[in-house]
Amino acid sequence: MKYNVDEKGYYGEFGGAYIPEMLYPNVEELRQNYLKVMAEPEFKKEFDQLLKDYVGRPSPLYFAKRLSKKYNTKIYLKREDLNHTGAHKINNTIGQILMAKRLGKNRIIAETGAGQHGVATATVCALMGLECIVYMGEIDIARQAPNVARMKMLGATVVPATSGSKTLKDATNEAIRDWINNPVDTHYIIGSVVGPHPYPDMVARFQSVVSEEIKWQLKDHLGRSQPDYIIACVGGGSNAAGAYYHFLDTTDVKLIAVEAAGLGVDSGESAATSVLGKEGIIHGSKTLLMQTNDGQITEPYSISAGLDYPGVGPMHAHLYKSGRAEFISITDDQAMKAGLELCQLEGIIPAIESAHALAVFKNKSFKPDDLIVLSLSGRGDKDLETYINHFNLA
Ligand SMILES: *Cc1c(COP(=O)(O)O)cnc(C)c1O
Repeated sequence: MKYNVDEKGYYGEFGGAYIPEMLYPNVEELRQNYLKVMAEPEFKKEFDQLLKDYVGRPSPLYFAKRLSKKYNTKIYLKREDLNHTGAHKINNTIGQILMAKRLGKNRIIAETGAGQHGVATATVCALMGLECIVYMGEIDIARQAPNVARMKMLGATVVPATSGSKTLKDATNEAIRDWINNPVDTHYIIGSVVGPHPYPDMVARFQSVVSEEIKWQLKDHLGRSQPDYIIACVGGGSNAAGAYYHFLDTTDVKLIAVEAAGLGVDSGESAATSVLGKEGIIHGSKTLLMQTNDGQITEPYSISAGLDYPGVGPMHAHLYKSGRAEFISITDDQAMKAGLELCQLEGIIPAIESAHALAVFKNKSFKPDDLIVLSLSGRGDKDLETYINHFNLA
């Protein structure tokens, strides 16, 4: 079984590029060039340099001693929360802004739901001095005021999407419309391993620095280069794809993907895409998504804005369908408790997305000798208000 992408842009039966004809030239230009550009020594050098000096990589691989003791196993945290801007998303936006420059683009567009990808995009546009337009649903703009302010401070223009449900999918439609109208000078930065081929593969490759580091860091710590388990939360799937990437074909490394069950998988208020999803097309890619019987996309729900996505990237749909990864759903409540537990056991306040991954330890038992790497995808500063309300901390 092959777990990575094939020449046609598919992961098993998932992936591809299901796009309107008007978008074909843009996507095709990217498809024909992305691997060539990424292989250029100059490109690699600039990417690595920025990851080091601007993002602060390598991110530490930290042995969580007290957490390990509590669950009687060996847990290492991959500290993506320590990156500049506080999460893994910057790895991808750095890669894509360099790609845009190589392709001669001077205008960047993006869509954002919770605003995290919008901030990561606005950050790299400021870094490179490129124009940045971020589409965001009108409702999300109201819900995510601090991130809107951050984007504006970084010099981006935030354009409200006022159609439909006024959330992420409407912002995506606006971004696609913009790209169709501006095919020559504009690059569209997608924020996860979603979208038409080659986006899922390109984003996975930019994020794969995470598992590349895990390999040599384990070697340094323990003299071995693979763990027994890798655990990561999945919204679209990019932090998980990065943490899994160099272990995809090493099947004795077990992969655990954690989805947001919201109020419960069967509550109607959930974002557990793999369990609830059916095959369909979203964002230009064939994958698993939550939909009604007649194929309308269902609004997802999770307490964590970053996992609140109705689909999952095609790599993850394939990992689910093939059984390569084990999928676990974690409710809001379980995630919040696990988040608070990490604060008190390790002095680390995690993003609520990452707290979903941490909740696995209460729901699955591991052996004392198991070596587990957990992708701590982001820090919890952005989630303080949610923590305050949930635990009555005010
Ligand atoms: C956006 C985000 C996620 C979810 O996105 P993936 O593409 O699934 O990684 C997870 N954690 C944090 C901190 C995020 O900001």
